[in-house]
Amino acid sequence: MHRSEITIDLGALRRNVRTLLRALDGSRLWAVVKADGYGHGAIDVAGAALGAGATALCVATIPEGLALRGEYRTERIVVLGPAGSNREVAQARDAGLELVIADGEIPEGVRVHLKLDTGMGRYGLTELPPPPAEVVGLMTHLATADSDPAFARSQIERFRAATEEFSNLTRHAANSAAALRLPESRFDAARCGVALYGLSPFNTDPAEDGLEPVLSWQTSLAQVKQLDSGQSAGYGRRFVAESPTWIGIVPVGYGDGFRRDLTGTEVRVAGEPRRVVGTVSMDSFAVELDRELPAGTPVVLLGHGMLAEAHARVAGTINYELACGIESGPLRARRTVIDA
Ligand SMILES: *Cc1c(COP(=O)(O)O)cnc(C)c1O
Repeated sequence: MHRSEITIDLGALRRNVRTLLRALDGSRLWAVVKADGYGHGAIDVAGAALGAGATALCVATIPEGLALRGEYRTERIVVLGPAGSNREVAQARDAGLELVIADGEIPEGVRVHLKLDTGMGRYGLTELPPPPAEVVGLMTHLATADSDPAFARSQIERFRAATEEFSNLTRHAANSAAALRLPESRFDAARCGVALYGLSPFNTDPAEDGLEPVLSWQTSLAQVKQLDSGQSAGYGRRFVAESPTWIGIVPVGYGDGFRRDLTGTEVRVAGEPRRVVGTVSMDSFAVELDRELPAGTPVVLLGHGMLAEAHARVAGTINYELACGIESGPLRARRTVIDA
């Protein structure tokens, strides 16, 4: 028996790809599958995204790109982050990966994208040099596409002005938020990550942008007990029953990616929202019930109306971080890929 079950719905992912393609109105969609596909499983989601119309895959590191190359022999794979070493660059060359260059040193024999810093203030060139023959693309990254469209537009304008004379090269600037809300950011291609997974780049309900969550996470009550008035549940006695209270013990904790700061969020028990009470520990947490329920009662942590965005607000973080933190390896959960 697994303690919890993670289901990845590639049908939902494909529908999200089509929603993005409609929004992009002719620009290409590049599927960002770094960090193991935002915790969803990069190999599976990459295949579904390509099948639904994405034309390239993006990752953060050369090792991530090499792992994908093992499965996808001919597709374009763009490494968004810097190379770790010269050895990695040689491996990228042999594997036909495309690299992003943010400091001006352009390796030979590799297709590269030059990254211009237009306001993110991290990786990126301050000025664009005349692009040598290795350069196939020009890019920038937006700091505020989800929060400050005016600043994002100023970045886009800088990028447009700096790259105008090289419009023969593939120009790309948009992430998910920009692809959905800033038409002027679309250029030739958009690098979309979070929206592929049916997570909102605005940390609001993804349905507002026509997106469907791809990941669901379910478990069941391992034990149910009644606390007497004054009895507590969990480390530190942070939840003390004020009157006789039924609680259910859920066999998932921060060791599985159900973060310690999720106390107070709601999960669905027997179809009804129930509050997480007391301290979340490594392998379990407690929920407050309104009645006795049998052990084995289904608990939904994510999916089926339980939104990562709602959990993220309770934890003071964003859905991206929550998704990346889910430990879906076989030692902690059973992972099933479906196509619904
Ligand atoms: C991660 C990343 C993206 C994808 O961003 P989302 O908000 O997940 O769509 C796009 N571009 C770069 C450079 C990235 O690092």
